[in-house]
Amino acid sequence: MKRNSLIVLLIILIVVVAGLAGGVVFYWHYIGDLLERDVVANVMESGNETADNFVRALEADQRIVDTIAITVQTNYPWADKAKLERFLYLQGKYNGFENLGIIPLDNSEMTLAHNVHLPKDWQKEMLMRALAEDTFTTKRYPQLGDGKNVLVQAASLHDGMEPIGALVVSLPTERYNSALALSSFTETGLAAVISRDGQVEVGGRWLKGKNIFSVLERAKLRNGQTLDDLRQDIQDGQGSFVRYQLDGQNRLLYGVSLPVNEWYLVAILPTDFIQAQAHRVAWSSLALFVFLFLLFGLLGLYIFCLRAYNSRQLFKTAFIDELTGLDNFNRMSISFEEHVQNLQGEVALVIFDILKFKVINDMLGYERGDLILQKAADVLKSWLNGGEHICRSSADNFVLLLSLTDRHNLRARITRMLAAVRRECAIADSCLKVEGVCGVYELKEPLPFYIALDRARLALANAKKSPKENIQFYDEKDRHRIVQERQLENSMEQALADGSFTLMLQPKYDFKTGSMEGAEALVRWNQAERGLVRPDDFIPLFERNGFILKLDMFILEQAVKFLAKWRSNGKQQVPVAVNFSRLHLNDSRYIPQMTQIVDAYDVPHHMIEVELTESVILNNSELAQSVIRGLHKKGFSVAMDDFGSGYSSLNVLKSLQFDSIKLDKEFLSGCEQNPTARHVINGAVEMIKAVGAKVVAEGVETEKQAVFLREMGCDLAQGYYFSKPISEDEFEKLLKPVPAPEE
Ligand code: C2E
Ligand code: MG
Ligand code: MG
Repeated sequence: MKRNSLIVLLIILIVVVAGLAGGVVFYWHYIGDLLERDVVANVMESGNETADNFVRALEADQRIVDTIAITVQTNYPWADKAKLERFLYLQGKYNGFENLGIIPLDNSEMTLAHNVHLPKDWQKEMLMRALAEDTFTTKRYPQLGDGKNVLVQAASLHDGMEPIGALVVSLPTERYNSALALSSFTETGLAAVISRDGQVEVGGRWLKGKNIFSVLERAKLRNGQTLDDLRQDIQDGQGSFVRYQLDGQNRLLYGVSLPVNEWYLVAILPTDFIQAQAHRVAWSSLALFVFLFLLFGLLGLYIFCLRAYNSRQLFKTAFIDELTGLDNFNRMSISFEEHVQNLQGEVALVIFDILKFKVINDMLGYERGDLILQKAADVLKSWLNGGEHICRSSADNFVLLLSLTDRHNLRARITRMLAAVRRECAIADSCLKVEGVCGVYELKEPLPFYIALDRARLALANAKKSPKENIQFYDEKDRHRIVQERQLENSMEQALADGSFTLMLQPKYDFKTGSMEGAEALVRWNQAERGLVRPDDFIPLFERNGFILKLDMFILEQAVKFLAKWRSNGKQQVPVAVNFSRLHLNDSRYIPQMTQIVDAYDVPHHMIEVELTESVILNNSELAQSVIRGLHKKGFSVAMDDFGSGYSSLNVLKSLQFDSIKLDKEFLSGCEQNPTARHVINGAVEMIKAVGAKVVAEGVETEKQAVFLREMGCDLAQGYYFSKPISEDEFEKLLKPVPAPEE
């Protein structure tokens, strides 16, 4: 499970990183393309703008020349030559013209702003051209005199309609450099005015004076374009767009034809800076992206850790026992099957419990009790082998899943574990011991956890009861018993309602006279499938579940009903002894309830004898004393049942005012042969008589016993020798009719 999720996580990570890398590459190219498209558009726009600027600059100069020409021709004829020269000088100076002069129509000496003499044929050519074209700009021209590159602009001069000469101005080509500065690319780009054969005429920076075609000879043109294509475009005055590489630098060339002198403007721009710019943008975007990614990643990690922490806490609360740090019961119940599989099904489920842990807690306090539990948990855990598990199920209860080899070895191992717990958890300065008990269920077939646990619990209950063996293995018979008990429990209420509980009466006889002097009421359960069931099979269960409280009152009522019936049938009434469970002693409603039942049938209270077992009285003699007093007050007589079956204290006889004591049948066994037993019985009888109680001998089965008991001085006899428990019908026959009252 964990491995799978790791693989999924790894795949997601790889996909994310691959996606990210792909995204970055795509983004890189996208930005590059975008910037280049932008630059191309800008170059074109900038090239066109530069072309316009250049033409406008030429036209502006042309207009100045025209204006000067108008002034010059207005003052014709030029009588004051010095004044004219002065005018020309000033105009040249203010307008930044290199040279300014007038060529007269007769091509005689020029009037010049500067005293430069020019050859006649040059003068003539300019004059002719001015007269023919009115106004024009020459191509680049090495200035006569200093050889400086200039353009010459000329305008014809007229007097009215008559031509009178031409005004010529030489303009240095540098004058147009500013117009040819590529806007937006002043640093990196260049613009040049070239002639159709590629010769740079104006501007061009490092291209100045060169032929563009000879420069591009060495260049590598891209996108399948050739130098001839470019040459052709320029020749035809077509716009052009070329990408090329020269001297390791990538460049863009944009060309557009100019309306002057068949000139052509080229704008050239290195493109590497675009790439660099694209990289810069891409890198900064990437850095931003990585930053955001990390930020969100960290945020995600934080949330993940927080959630993991919370779920760990939740897990701890849900599955870990806070005190011992062991798994808790929930965890064990969830992972039980997995653990069983890990142990290949050979598993013993062991419940470990500390005997009388409550006493330890009460005497040492909860804090030390907790420390003992922690220590016990550590010790038990240290005994586990690989694949074995332990959990604390509740208070001092631990559930262990141990691998099962055979019962003998397992018992030996658990014995050693218990010894280790006893040793390691020894309580200093106290006589208390930490004694563990274990119930073991050997899991031989796949069973749900709760069933296996129930079986181990059953074994644990037996271990707790057993005084010697504190490790008990589950026995199938126990389960049958439990199942039967469940069945009894399920049907007891119904049985009470439909009269399945019946009452037998066992007569009691006077040893001396032999007359029947009373009876004991004994309950029977008449079950359809089992017949008459004896009380030993269900009374202990009813004592555990409390149903005995109801049943005893039911038997009392039956007995009282019989007494009432005998009276109405004119029969003698004899006292009936009713057995009452120890549970009544703690029930404050006991005596009032009993009184109410007896009174309901108007039966004299002394006809009812309450039988309380010896064990009840010994366990809580003070309570017994007060209940006995209460019963006496109401006129009921009280008998101690089963005297001699346990550890009767003769002291009890003294302190509790019993009306009779019933010697247990176990007490009698062996009395026929064993002289010591006879002495003991003799002593007991004497003592009982001494405290003023009657002695009833129970379970008298033989004549010998009867003779012996009579000799001992017992008052009443009850036993199979005299009569078995009989039905009320039969019993009534034993009763004498009440003699008619004397007149
Ligand atoms: P118990 O009160 O000591 O009753 C005497 C038991 O001894 C009866 O067993 C009776 O049948 C049996 N018994 C009588 N004579 C002989 C004999 O000669 N030999 C042998 N071996 N047994 C003899 P039972 O009826 O099975 O009752 C067993 C116990 O169940 C009673 O012992 C009493 O403690 C309890 N019990 C019976 N009925 C009730 C009842 O209504 N309420 C309560 N709380 N307990 C009852
Ligand atoms: Mg009895
Ligand atoms: Mg008895």
